[in-house]
Amino acid sequence: MAKEDYYKLLGVDRNASDEEIKKSYRKLAMKYHPDRNKDDPQKAEAKFKQIKEAYEILSDAKKRAAYDQFGHAGVESGMGGGRYGGGFGTESFSDVFGDMFGDIFGGGGRSRGGAQRGADLRYNLELTLEEAVAGTEAKIRVQVLVTCNECSGSGARKGTSPVICSTCHGHGQIRMQQGFFAVQQTCPTCRGTGKQIKDPCGKCYGQGRVQDTKTLSAKIPAGVDTGDRIRLSGEGEAGEQGGPPGDLYVQIQVKDHPIFTRDGANLYCEVPISFPTACLGGELEVPTLDGKVNLKIPPETQTGKLFRLRGKGVKPVRGGPVGDLLCRVQVETPVHLTKEQKELIAKLNESLMGGGKHHSPQEHSFMDGVKNFFDKLTG
Ligand SMILES: [Zn+2]
Ligand SMILES: [Zn+2]
Repeated sequence: MAKEDYYKLLGVDRNASDEEIKKSYRKLAMKYHPDRNKDDPQKAEAKFKQIKEAYEILSDAKKRAAYDQFGHAGVESGMGGGRYGGGFGTESFSDVFGDMFGDIFGGGGRSRGGAQRGADLRYNLELTLEEAVAGTEAKIRVQVLVTCNECSGSGARKGTSPVICSTCHGHGQIRMQQGFFAVQQTCPTCRGTGKQIKDPCGKCYGQGRVQDTKTLSAKIPAGVDTGDRIRLSGEGEAGEQGGPPGDLYVQIQVKDHPIFTRDGANLYCEVPISFPTACLGGELEVPTLDGKVNLKIPPETQTGKLFRLRGKGVKPVRGGPVGDLLCRVQVETPVHLTKEQKELIAKLNESLMGGGKHHSPQEHSFMDGVKNFFDKLTG
């Protein structure tokens, strides 16, 4: 599905100032807020989300520049960021929401905080290494508090509305005299909303929210790793009594792979090679995430040697060069030897010992080290 242009969505032109974008967003967000569109809240919510997304991109200078240059592709990959700093303008966004609800419910000098934002939720998503490297579309089922469709989140029985709280007269706060001090407190009757529900909704019992199972589809960008988080904006818990929803954070956990281990952008794998191949050299087939490749083993290869296959690692989600695949060879000692084979090896050993050359470089330097160690101890 082609996505709509963010500027068009917000009804501003491409060189609109930040202030114009903010203004237009607030106007549209109020217009399409599900609470104000009770005839078709679903449609309004969909529009609301699109506008919100557009604003999140265009209100962030970095994201906006990327969007201007590359379109939707320029900002999509950034969605995988586990870091908040470089990501969406979360703070500026909630600021705008604060203002917005101040506008809607304000008046009478009531303090903010009437419509409580829904809680953020966390979902643990397990991926295979292949899925994490290539990216995937994950189906997510979450138990979540959603806005009650019977009362559209107001908590009041259909056809009725909440009334102004008689305890605090809609202020949400009350002043209590305690000795010499006057203390400002959240109103216990309405819990700060400034409203009272005389006739609660039969479905949500006045909560404005009900428990439901939501199925979501989350786009997981290529290159994510364990510990990365993906924010699904507005997919968290519904707000209390018409408040904005929280976000859903998808926490990535990559499962162990039978062949590869990952370290950042690099992949590692252990490759066993036979003793003759290690001595004489040869070619091996080694696995990579996109098929087998041939690896040349030079003669006289030692066990533990790393061979680097450039660009066969992972493309990091936050950009940067594609990593490498590092194959560590393990030389195997032959087993199930026949009498004849043992004799041949004994002969080989004789030949190696008789040549006057050191054929085992590690052993030789190790033995030298041991000798020095004992010399020091005794002398
Ligand atoms: Zn309800
Ligand atoms: Zn009250």
